[in-house]
Amino acid sequence: MGEIRFYRDEVEWTSIAEQLKQMPCPHCKAVGTLNRHGSISGCDETSTGVLRARRVFCSNRNARPGCGRTFSIWLADKILRVKLTTRGLWQFLKKAVSDGITAAIDAASDACRLSGRVLQRIWQRFDRRQSHIRTVLWAQRPPPDLPGDSQSTQAEVLAHLQAAFPDADCPIAAYQQTNKTFFF
Ligand SMILES: [Zn+2]
Repeated sequence: MGEIRFYRDEVEWTSIAEQLKQMPCPHCKAVGTLNRHGSISGCDETSTGVLRARRVFCSNRNARPGCGRTFSIWLADKILRVKLTTRGLWQFLKKAVSDGITAAIDAASDACRLSGRVLQRIWQRFDRRQSHIRTVLWAQRPPPDLPGDSQSTQAEVLAHLQAAFPDADCPIAAYQQTNKTFFF
């Protein structure tokens, strides 16, 4: 997967939409061919019909020189194929490293209407991705010193993430927008 563009809110989307005509297409690099092309909705713990991403079309109609392909610009607090906001995911992962995966699943399955099996898979996705996340974070800053040596590697990654984005409303959303990649 190449670079993924993210936006934080409607104000930022409006500004991106106004600049589409000056942006090169990520597929064919043509400039002046990009148009808004609808949106992608889905569900997460906040709602069953929530905006997740905007579609952009590189126009090849009416003899325009685009490639005819589309791409998406994502809201920074959404994750591909996860029915949780980044904030919901952050809460779930924090609980899992502090109280254990069983307690985290109990808490999240009530709050987020997700089954234990789905939450277990989300935890596994994070687990498989953690060394990659750590590498990305190292490029920003070294990990913080943690008290004691009994921390799990998952807890270390979350502490590193928090330290990399100390002022962020949600560290996972900030990670996605800064690094132009999904958290996992
Ligand atoms: Zn194109």
